Amino acid sequence: KESRAMMFQRQHMDPDDPSNNSNYCNQMMRRRLVTEGRCKLLNTFIHEPLVDVQAICLQGNVICKNGQPNCHKSSSRMKITDCRVKSNSKYPDCDYYTIHKERHIIVACEGNPYVPVHFHASV
Ligand code: C5P
Repeated sequence: KESRAMMFQRQHMDPDDPSNNSNYCNQMMRRRLVTEGRCKLLNTFIHEPLVDVQAICLQGNVICKNGQPNCHKSSSRMKITDCRVKSNSKYPDCDYYTIHKERHIIVACEGNPYVPVHFHASV
């Protein structure tokens, strides 16, 4: 069974450099099985080494929006791609805008080892 940590990696990790292909999100959302069952409205891919993303669990502790205490904000900005669904897209033909950014990211961490299991926000 896929762990929450593995699911985080599948849905949010892409250590390669940001792609200049405007179809990046359409391809990645499908390839990583993020669009199974529905067109997810917003999904972020992170273009940094996995170890650097795992290290966020040791960085600034913040309260998650749901009140849980286990969110962490990256001390540096990270290269990310926002995949935002186009309002006219109809499942299963999920159509996305590909938007590159550099932002601090907030992830929720869990477990032992204490690793990212949820992408919370970019700020
Ligand atoms: O904020 P909300 O709970 O609606 O987010 C739902 C999911 O959307 C998150 O678990 C995460 O997978 C994704 N998300 C994201 N990037 C954001 C905000 C949300 O990938 N900036």
